Amino acid sequence: MAVPVVDMDLCIGCGSCSEVCPEVFEMRDEKAWVIAPDKCDTCDCQAAADTCPVEAIKFE
Ligand code: SF4
Repeated sequence: MAVPVVDMDLCIGCGSCSEVCPEVFEMRDEKAWVIAPDKCDTCDCQAAADTCPVEAIKFE
């Protein structure tokens, strides 16, 4: 199963992903961390990826 991964070099810390998917993304030190990648089963992480202004969220 593909899981979301944040490119820390690209992330500008806007917080959009953690607003869309708070179960999966958490803001720490103005960067988004994937805290529970397996929670993608219950929410649409593609929505979080789509909302990212710098396309920092990929799926691996
Ligand atoms: S939406 Fe993108 S730029 Fe904004 S915090 Fe999440 S990963 Fe970073």
